[in-house]
Amino acid sequence: MKKNDRSRKDSEGLTRIETTKEWKMLYFQHGRAGLEESSEFRGLCRHCELRDICAIQKPESGVWRCAYYKALTRKKTNLYENVINQLEKAADVVHFDRDICRILAETTNELVVHFPVKMDSGTVKMLTGYRVQHNNALGPFKGGLRFHPSVDIDEVRALSTLMTWKTAIANIPFGGAKGGLQLDPADYSIQELEKITRRFTFALGNNIGPEYDIPAPDVNTNPKIMAWILDTYLSTVTPNERNRCLHVVTGKPIEAGGSQGRYKATGQGIVFLIEKWAEDHGFNLKGATYTVQGFGNVGSWAARLMKKNASKLIAVEDVTGVILNKEGIDPDDLADYVEEHGGVLDYPKAKPIDHDTFFGTKADIFIPAALENQITAETAEMLNVKLVAEGANGPTDQEGDKVLQRKKIDLIPDILCNSGGVIVSYFEWLQNKRSEFWDLDEVDYKLQKMIVDAYERVRDTAEKYKVDWRTAAHIVAISRLETVYKERGIFP
Ligand code: NAD
Repeated sequence: MKKNDRSRKDSEGLTRIETTKEWKMLYFQHGRAGLEESSEFRGLCRHCELRDICAIQKPESGVWRCAYYKALTRKKTNLYENVINQLEKAADVVHFDRDICRILAETTNELVVHFPVKMDSGTVKMLTGYRVQHNNALGPFKGGLRFHPSVDIDEVRALSTLMTWKTAIANIPFGGAKGGLQLDPADYSIQELEKITRRFTFALGNNIGPEYDIPAPDVNTNPKIMAWILDTYLSTVTPNERNRCLHVVTGKPIEAGGSQGRYKATGQGIVFLIEKWAEDHGFNLKGATYTVQGFGNVGSWAARLMKKNASKLIAVEDVTGVILNKEGIDPDDLADYVEEHGGVLDYPKAKPIDHDTFFGTKADIFIPAALENQITAETAEMLNVKLVAEGANGPTDQEGDKVLQRKKIDLIPDILCNSGGVIVSYFEWLQNKRSEFWDLDEVDYKLQKMIVDAYERVRDTAEKYKVDWRTAAHIVAISRLETVYKERGIFP
């Protein structure tokens, strides 16, 4: 669309916004409290296709972008529901103890904190943070912190429950938790983000702790943010305790007590499992094609590590845009570009495509590594792949699952597929506790062993009960928790 077409109105009188060089990084805020009526434009977004766009604003950081795709608007209604339905589905197959299922269907603790932070402008802003601790029957609560506008209590409940299943399947001595802040980091300066993180950590107080609840990175959080959390937490304990508390958070920078291999761990785990799946199916990964949704920590590392198999990345979607090159995209080169430009948009060695074309692109493997509920009945119908390896948490909704099964597309479910991150977090936690440093080979070797063992448990369970892999993964997790509850009994 050309500049002078911008004023074209649809039948409802809203200005239709198209993706153009000048407009494509417009930032849409939908249904967000405190939105300014005086915002520049009102209209429809081609990405998210919302009919009731509130406004388009340029945030203080100056990065224009649409943070809301169509699928995201459906997320709130069903992620937690999906998680609980899946628990019930597994319980119906194996007839788990109903009392234990009742325990597992609830979270243990839910903390919502509201706290003030002084912005660069001198004004004070109130922010809301969450930490939900789902279960700690197997060990301390463990799970990431997410900074994203869609974070709310239901999302965090669902993600904390998935963490409990994930640690149980991986056979590591942790429970499940999740947390986050409802904000878009692009709206804040780096100084503001640091203040927000530190104040959030302070507000969480001793609801987190190295032997109690251990956060880690997730969407829009990274080792730097983990280092701020560590530093703030250490400032609240007595000096003689400090060196014993390094493991209050994992995913730290190496210099601040992080582990070799943690940064790439989730992507590395995905690649180990794709290799195992290929071995089991006699499938040659050399020259195999794959597409990736989300090119942040998980997606970019999975893509980069697939290079060693000589597989070919052909399409990528992230929040800024969607690109395709059937001849292959070099994941390292794209990662450098994303680092510099903030997203895949305008990557010069591929052509732009739209969301639907991305989902319809024929490839051998699809790695969703963005947000939840991206594979719906509608998008699953479009998929033309042999395997979906779920890097993201909850990327497939229940209807999407049914379509994948009908189309006989293999699936490595999230609670198995992306467990590499929490497995190496466990290694980091152990190294901190024992004052040890493991080298990368040792970390990778142990990760591969643990994640492939978990894969085999899920595969064998799927064969034994003749169920899909997601149900099998739940059966593995819930069996482990059921055994522990039965052995320990219920207090008092
Ligand atoms: P990240 O913030 O590093 O990257 C997120 C990516 O998703 C970005 O490329 C972003 O542009 C893209 N994205 C966001 N919204 C999108 C949309 N609507 N459509 C397309 N792309 C979109 O986050 P991450 O740490 O890579 O996490 C990605 C997923 O993996 C999340 O579901 C997270 O819970 C899960 N996960 C992360 C880890 C970890 O160690 N970081 C571990 C396990 C699971």
